[in-house]
Amino acid sequence: MSGISSKAAGVLQNKNQYNGKEKQSNEFSDGSDLDWLDYGARMYDAKIGRWMITDPKSEKYLGYSPFCYTVNNPILFIDPNGKEIWINYGEDNASKARWENGKLYDEKGKKIKINKSTDKFLSETFKALNLLRKDNKMEFNADIGVGENVRPAGGNALEKLASDKSFKVSIINSAKIEDKFDHHLYNKTNNSINFDPNMGLKFNNNGDPQTYYNSPTSSLAHELYHAFNQIFYPKETSDMINTPTDVGKPRKSFGNVSELFTTEQTNGTNIKLREPTRDNYSGTPVPFPSATARSPK
Ligand SMILES: [Zn+2]
Repeated sequence: MSGISSKAAGVLQNKNQYNGKEKQSNEFSDGSDLDWLDYGARMYDAKIGRWMITDPKSEKYLGYSPFCYTVNNPILFIDPNGKEIWINYGEDNASKARWENGKLYDEKGKKIKINKSTDKFLSETFKALNLLRKDNKMEFNADIGVGENVRPAGGNALEKLASDKSFKVSIINSAKIEDKFDHHLYNKTNNSINFDPNMGLKFNNNGDPQTYYNSPTSSLAHELYHAFNQIFYPKETSDMINTPTDVGKPRKSFGNVSELFTTEQTNGTNIKLREPTRDNYSGTPVPFPSATARSPK
């Protein structure tokens, strides 16, 4: 993957520009860059004088009483100083790396150099996140919610999660968990994502005898969308969870509207990953050679 190798050698550039914010540029070895100023929670494009990502806070506080907010978001009160997307890795998941703008930082904010042979989980998760970051693969636009409370949602879900200072999403190595169906999972009680870089999905679409596969990266995107929806649209997500879809078909059914919605979000990402889309919730976890592999072998 050219996007994560660092061939860029040579002159050091002053990246801290207007208002002392870091300019995001030349992140990729192919010379492409974002040219945005990183304001922390938001990105500013100085060329057109516009915020590229809306302030996440504005949508969080709209329409909810503080009481509702507390009920829907225990995480805010458990971890008020938590930040962004963190990868737990190493022995007993004890080491932590923060992923932001395609880079990894340790708890002191120092850039991490990955040891690919000893930190396999970190390296594979890093690859998966960077693949999802490239070309805005987790950008979506859709109406979220149920009935009268439907409202437009959208943006780059991955970048919003990664730049939000109020929430912390932890990605945890799930390879040792016994139940294979739990190897990709979002747990809203502690805002963590189980991820197994060597577990992909095998599935069939309705009325189609062909067998399809989705990469572990696609599954990570799916769980990240669950986290995004829960954090940025808690009321709509809770409404969707409480609304069943086609009842009586437990294996193939999405079960509830939230699962259907998240699978559709993931389908958008699957198209950008050049992977097949799913029209039902059937599927079997199968071993994959790497996080970004699109088939088992
Ligand atoms: Zn799901």
